[in-house]
Amino acid sequence: MFSLSTTPISSELLTESLQNEKAGAIVVFHGWVRDHNEGKKVKSLEYQIYKELALKEGKRILEEAKKKFNLHGIMAVHREGHLALGEIAIWIGATSSHRDDAFKATRYVIDEIKYRLPVWKKEHYLHEKPEWVFCKDHHHHVHFSEKEFYSKQSALVNQDKLKNAKVLVVGAGGLGCPVLLSLAGAGVGHITIVDHDVVSLSNLHRQSLYSVNLVGEKKAIASSKKIQELNPFIHVEGISERVKLEHLQHDLMIDCTDNLETKYFLHDLCHKLRLPLISSSVYQNEGQIRTFIPGEGCLRCQSEVTPDDSLLGNCNDFGVIGAVTNTLGSLQASEAIKFLSTGENSTTTHTFYLNVADLSIMKVKNFKKEGCKTCAGEVQLEEHKVEVSGGMEILDIRNLTDEEVMALKPHNVALCCHRGIRSKKLAMKLQEEGHEVYSLKGGVSSL
Ligand SMILES: [Zn+2]
Repeated sequence: MFSLSTTPISSELLTESLQNEKAGAIVVFHGWVRDHNEGKKVKSLEYQIYKELALKEGKRILEEAKKKFNLHGIMAVHREGHLALGEIAIWIGATSSHRDDAFKATRYVIDEIKYRLPVWKKEHYLHEKPEWVFCKDHHHHVHFSEKEFYSKQSALVNQDKLKNAKVLVVGAGGLGCPVLLSLAGAGVGHITIVDHDVVSLSNLHRQSLYSVNLVGEKKAIASSKKIQELNPFIHVEGISERVKLEHLQHDLMIDCTDNLETKYFLHDLCHKLRLPLISSSVYQNEGQIRTFIPGEGCLRCQSEVTPDDSLLGNCNDFGVIGAVTNTLGSLQASEAIKFLSTGENSTTTHTFYLNVADLSIMKVKNFKKEGCKTCAGEVQLEEHKVEVSGGMEILDIRNLTDEEVMALKPHNVALCCHRGIRSKKLAMKLQEEGHEVYSLKGGVSSL
């Protein structure tokens, strides 16, 4: 009933498809691309549409029209992409027994489409620069001037530097959502979002970019659409994968992940590739933020050992409040904006700790150990894809010695021990020898 089209609309074919002998009338509405708007000469139009939402909302509008008015049939098509003068931008057809219903229904549908569909219109003018326009209704157009968009912050930041910055945000969850909203609003010109997870119902209380209708959707894609909708002047890309080397062509990485193993992996990766990193983590009511400039002190300066995730847990195990992750995410974004704007911020020299329960803060000076290999960029990346959560054949190694497991040369299985620590070490060893062997995360206690 409702559709989007990238190719020209044929009114004849659509009218024919609504043919119905019971109907006494058909009313067809065409919205055309005209050659002027608000005193400016228009030469062409461009529509950018948030497809998934537009299709859902469009369908809903037509269903409402069908209920409200006594219709036999109703159909609407909205164009997307670049349109020339005179082309049909919106086509609506309604059939009814009596003409009045069909007239009223087309009027209702066009007004609702204009008001409710997430459609951006870019007008290309004959003599002026193109402009994005959001058409709320026939006399209410919101013009988007880039300068006006940033007018309330431009005294505080270097807008050009932000516009030219390329930022990689890893994790579009509790920290990622506020970070992405703030970066997009501030006008960071290129934002890449990497997250391989999908939206679940238990995310919604804190991850403000998502709503119930997005449950099951890929977070990287859903969040990128949302922030693109917020700011049409920036470039946003969503990648629904784990972080790979080819993703790292950026000026800054922002780590918004929620487990230690990934955090250390990203930390080491950034030091190896000399990429500045702003990392934040939250544990119940407490959070911390630190900016790492490669060569100027790192986590391995304190201890070379990666702490085990199972010793600490994450928000899945201990709970988390949206206000806490939103606060930390906003501060993390603020650190990023300062850093991109001026090249410095306060968490390059100090790690910032916040306890939201009693509103206490602490700043601890970062330190650099002489001769730290990670700081020097000599980083051995730890194997990251050694753990699985199930869905594989399992080899129980609790009653086997390390030597016995190695001698078995297992293939295409997940090793399982008590807590998933010995199995992980052995799986890494076997992977180095070329065997496809994994470790069951958490060991038998996770089964
Ligand atoms: Zn170091």
